[in-house]
Amino acid sequence: MRRKIIAGNWKMHKTPSETERFIRKFLDLVPKEPSCKVIIFPPFTSLERAGRFLAPTTVELGAQDVHFHDNGAFTGEIASSMIKECGGNYVLVGHSERRTHFQESDTIVNRKLVAAIHGNLAPIICIGETITEYRAGTTKQRLEAQLSGGLSKIDPSQLASILIAYEPVWAIGTGETAAPATAQRTIEYIRQWIAGKYNAASADMVPILYGGSVTAANTRDLLAQPDIDGLLVGGASLDPHSFAAIVIASE
Ligand code: PEP
Repeated sequence: MRRKIIAGNWKMHKTPSETERFIRKFLDLVPKEPSCKVIIFPPFTSLERAGRFLAPTTVELGAQDVHFHDNGAFTGEIASSMIKECGGNYVLVGHSERRTHFQESDTIVNRKLVAAIHGNLAPIICIGETITEYRAGTTKQRLEAQLSGGLSKIDPSQLASILIAYEPVWAIGTGETAAPATAQRTIEYIRQWIAGKYNAASADMVPILYGGSVTAANTRDLLAQPDIDGLLVGGASLDPHSFAAIVIASE
């Protein structure tokens, strides 16, 4: 039985003091030991502060990106070890905003995934089709390309530390959530693809999250789908009340 996961991607929001205020309030609002795993992804500059306040709690910490080298002359980049030392155990890789605004290819996503695994971080690889691809009926081809490129040279033992987030680009930040049955069908396809490339046991184990305009109002219906193991939440994770409401709705 895969444990449900509720993850909050703050994108480029919140300073360290705003992060601290959020965490204090959020911890007041959720059960101390929620049945789901909760992960918060603040910006790099808030990781250290978040790590300090989350350390005594069950809430996990992750970063929104990672560089594929361990260190070196890469101005502006952040390595796995830096995230780890702040208390991060997770990292988002290949979020659609990075693919769109920073030209991240599947090859780069793959290199980041490998670096994250070597650095003992559990990567969440984000995949999803654009509205044009959705309308053209080419969602599966897009996902297939992102999966085969992103997971290139990843063996079954490495797959065990990877999570997948299916985030249709047309649903991110638009208020237009994928219908739960549609999200289920697509995530079922992703799981079948994993079974074909690896094996049924790996496919059964890999957590697959849905992301795209999640709110407390649609949490229950999405999580009721058999293949949806959790939710990656953007906008609604910025307010401690709305994020706590999602955690509580997932119980
Ligand atoms: C996201 O950024 O991963 C996301 C799903 O955003 P939102 O919930 O705002 O659509």
